[in-house]
Order: sequence, then C-alpha cells, then structure tokens
Amino acid sequence: MAVREILRMGHPILRQRARALTAAEIGDSKLSALIEDMVDTLADSGGIGLAAPQIGIPLRLAIIRIPGGPSRYGEIEEVPLTIYVNPEIEVLDGSEQGFWEGCLSVPGLRGYVERPRGIRVRWLDTSGQPQAAAYQGFLATVFQHEFDHLDGRLYIDRLKDTSKLMFEEEFARFGDPVEAID
Ligand code: ZN
Repeated sequence: MAVREILRMGHPILRQRARALTAAEIGDSKLSALIEDMVDTLADSGGIGLAAPQIGIPLRLAIIRIPGGPSRYGEIEEVPLTIYVNPEIEVLDGSEQGFWEGCLSVPGLRGYVERPRGIRVRWLDTSGQPQAAAYQGFLATVFQHEFDHLDGRLYIDRLKDTSKLMFEEEFARFGDPVEAID
C-alpha cells in the first residue's frame, strides 16, 4: 500500500489512450496491489475519483468514491468506493448540463464544462463480473470526467469558453455559482 505521485498535465501518459485489462489481469494479485495504491492515493488527495493513468498506469481502470450529502450542486447521492474495470459509457440523455470541474492532474484550476446529463455505465468488477448503473446530474459529469482520462482526455479539452477557466482562488472570488448549478 502506498500513496503514488499523481501525474500533472503535460505528462504524456495523461494523453494516451489506456488499454483494456485482460481476463487474466483482472484475477491477478498485481491488480489488487495497484487498486490498493489507487485507493490510498485518492484518500490522500481528497478527491472523488482517480483513473489509473493519473498515477502513470495506462490501463482502463478507475475508482470513484463520493461521500454524498449537501453541496453547492444540491443533495448529491453517495457512491461508495467502487472499482471500475474497462468501463464504458452510454449516453441516455444527451441534453447538456454544465458544472465547474477540477482535476487532480490539473491542480489549482476550475473550468466550466458542459456534458450529457444522463448516462449508463457498464463495467467489470474486480471479479470480472459485469455491472451497470445509470447516473444523472452531477454524478453523470463525475463519471464522464474520470473515464475521459482513459482516453487521454482532460476536462480542459471540453471547455467551450476559455474565459471560464479560473484559478481556485479567483473562482471563489469571481466565479458564478448560479451558472455552476445550471
Ligand atoms: Zn481528472
């Protein structure tokens, strides 16, 4: 178990398309060790999601843990710590909604990104069993953000208006919370 270094924007691994895990890899103890490191790293960072490429491992693997409860986006549903192996997204509601996103690999910044409002996620659990769940609102954005990392994409690539990219301190002072709620 270890907290790994989180790669920052500019590292080439963050821009690669990660490869899928094979059936043999999914059952292997090496994967369990990697997941333990990801869990430790996420807890240490204070973030809500981490994709394997963010710690330099170009595999289609991500973890998400959302505490839930009241937030500036309203009441958020809790997502207990879940491991997503080879996840895929299907858009259920393509109408767009915007949130101010941040990223552990782009520290200190926030940007306003619009994405589809409703999605279904399919993935394999750590036993290789298929799982599926549907998400809307803020959670739909979180999953799209995390799984973009598996395709070498960062949220800043999806900014439509670069005047809505801010440092966190300026966001706190000048950001528009009404717009953030959408
Ligand atoms: Zn990110």
